[in-house]
Amino acid sequence: MAEVAALELEQKAVGVRAQLTAALGQHGRLVYSNSLGAEAMVLTDIIWSYLPQIDVFSIDTGRLYEETHELLEKLQRRYRRTIRVVYPDAGALERLVARQGVNGFYHSLEARLECCRIRKVEPFKRAIAGFSAWITGVRREQSASRAAGQAVEWDTEHGLYKISPLLDWTEAEVWQYIRARQLPYNRLHDRQFPSIGCAPCTRAIQPGESRRAGRWWWEQPESRECGLHPRVSPAAMPA
Ligand code: SF4
Repeated sequence: MAEVAALELEQKAVGVRAQLTAALGQHGRLVYSNSLGAEAMVLTDIIWSYLPQIDVFSIDTGRLYEETHELLEKLQRRYRRTIRVVYPDAGALERLVARQGVNGFYHSLEARLECCRIRKVEPFKRAIAGFSAWITGVRREQSASRAAGQAVEWDTEHGLYKISPLLDWTEAEVWQYIRARQLPYNRLHDRQFPSIGCAPCTRAIQPGESRRAGRWWWEQPESRECGLHPRVSPAAMPA
């Protein structure tokens, strides 16, 4: 039984490679937005092992956990590659903190979205500029908004294709892949943090809670995205 599962997972991983290889042929320059979450360990392994021409970047919002920085270093050592780390614009960040305070994101949804816009969305836009498609590790299981996603979508918000090769992977498959290859991963995953973002906006989940319940836990479930995954029309293509 375990052998069948391992074989099926191997086929899924081969499918991801095939999808990304085809996307390279079709779109030319691809960029991977590496979240450093569990799914990112799978995609980093596939990309750096087989498709090194894909650009890999990660956003350091300035509020990440130390464990996330440790993971970034471990990944770079294992693959002897460098992740392009992108930071918020220093001037915009100083103005944000002057306006709303250093933890102003707790005060309202608008303040939280403004913080995410300056610390994540704007650096993301800079990081993907000039590329034809970006790759993300989102999975359908993760949230109601992600359940409706497509493997390839036209991202109207950012003006390029969005490719989600792990959309149909289960969480169990992600961890099976990580363990089979003894990949590094964020130590917080062992402390009931299935989804990890900025430290002040992430907490451990309780038994029975959804996997993303620890992200922006004080908000309604519908608003719990940072703006990198806007609700775009699935499969819509540019004219
Ligand atoms: S997750 Fe929290 S700290 Fe991080 S950018 Fe968004 S609001 Fe700011």
